[in-house]
Amino acid sequence: MTYPDLYLMIDGQRVAGGGRRTHSVVNPATGETLAELPLADAADLDAALAAAQRGFLRWRESTPQERAAVLQGAARLMVERQEQLARIATLEQGKTLAEARIEVMMNVGLFNFYAGETFRLYGRALVRPAGQRSTVTKEPVGPVAAFAPWNFPLGNPGRKLGAPIAAGCSVILKAAEETPASALGILQCLIDAGLPGDVAQAIFGVPDEVSRHLLSSPIIRKMSFTGSTSVGKHLAKLAAEDCKRTTMELGGHGPVLIFNDADLNRALDTVVAGKYRNAGQVCVSPTRFIVESGVYDRFLTGFVERVENIVVGDGLVDGSVMGPMANARRLDAMDRLIGDAVEKGARLEIGGARIGNAGYFYAPTVLSGTPLTAAIMNEEPFGPVALINSFADEAAMITEANRLPYGLAAYAWTSDAARQRRVARAIEAGMVGINTAMIGGSDSPFGGVKWSGHGAEDGPEGIDACLVTKAIHEG
Ligand code: NAD
Repeated sequence: MTYPDLYLMIDGQRVAGGGRRTHSVVNPATGETLAELPLADAADLDAALAAAQRGFLRWRESTPQERAAVLQGAARLMVERQEQLARIATLEQGKTLAEARIEVMMNVGLFNFYAGETFRLYGRALVRPAGQRSTVTKEPVGPVAAFAPWNFPLGNPGRKLGAPIAAGCSVILKAAEETPASALGILQCLIDAGLPGDVAQAIFGVPDEVSRHLLSSPIIRKMSFTGSTSVGKHLAKLAAEDCKRTTMELGGHGPVLIFNDADLNRALDTVVAGKYRNAGQVCVSPTRFIVESGVYDRFLTGFVERVENIVVGDGLVDGSVMGPMANARRLDAMDRLIGDAVEKGARLEIGGARIGNAGYFYAPTVLSGTPLTAAIMNEEPFGPVALINSFADEAAMITEANRLPYGLAAYAWTSDAARQRRVARAIEAGMVGINTAMIGGSDSPFGGVKWSGHGAEDGPEGIDACLVTKAIHEG
């Protein structure tokens, strides 16, 4: 299939050329350039801001029926265009087609859920004496600046666009420059479903320039960011200068507690698939495997056996289970983190090297006995590497799970019902999976605590994050 032309989508118009700087979009499976992406200049950003202000004044007056019709219409178009969208995502990001198709359907579920939620943005009436009235209403916060990364090229833009649109906000989306066509494809579904062009726009640029420009504008009332903790902290400071509302979905370092009484085969089948999904470039990826000593040897052996069967290849090719990493930066990070761990005493059980000379392929990797002093035990690896260590008992396992400042997703495998509840309560995380890797859903808040961020996407919470409350008192 051919890769589409790229542009900025400002005020309903496709904007490109005109001497703008460009960024080369690369297919990570081959290293070949797919297309040149125009980058926004200051005038483009000002045009997008002016349109977003207009779009907000229009969209905040829309009815739930109008918003729901757009969201449901876009969901229908995504189903029709599933194959085309999935292929674009695989071409520019590398994940397998099967994973990209799932991403489209996650957006479909979310948009349909949000369509229903537009009718449930309730306020409340307070109890007052006769003749007086006090009500609390919810209103859209205003134009939103949303920053979406490349790891879920379809899903991240879907989240960033869906919630503001459902809430009655306008939104300027800066999706990743590495995966622009997927983001433009999702926006086009909304526009084709009737969304006015000034309500949602997509721009690309030099990230630091774009975020400084948008966040210094008083037009923007909320910032939503998904990405690394370090960039998130920087953007939160910029947003604070103007007291803008923020939703921050940042990094993680997912602990997975495997207890002696776990259903080991089921746990292994689930966590190995979860670990190498999207080549480990997932914020909720299971990363630190904290294994009780009684099952440590069996768990490690079973894990490595399953990893041996993972077929690494171009995501467009049938049979590939794991695609390339999304960019050369991730390969460098893998070499650095794994090299450092081995140097500090970790045992390389399998993998630990790049594959081939073309594209950004890295072997699925397992390290055991990695000391806590290794960088990889403290820094989000964001790649296809599992860290498997042995611990004496539940107390030591919980201590290790909560050791890091991250708190996004955590997982535990145990058949003891009392322990399931104890562990779920003790772990500091925004999402906990007990005997499951499924920790999200369109109706469920997705977000973290501590350095993993604040606020949530998806669920009623996702829309609530785009609303402000107003109390109205009548005497
Ligand atoms: P990065 O931190 O430079 O970029 C992450 C994302 O933030 C990208 O989409 C980038 O365009 C954007 N970004 C960077 N600087 C920005 C700025 N000043 N203003 C606005 N946006 C900005 O790193 P990267 O190399 O792309 O990814 C590396 C790390 O990012 C990973 O190790 C991982 O920890 C994290 N990450 C997290 C997620 C997530 O889902 N939470 C997704 C992608 C990357």
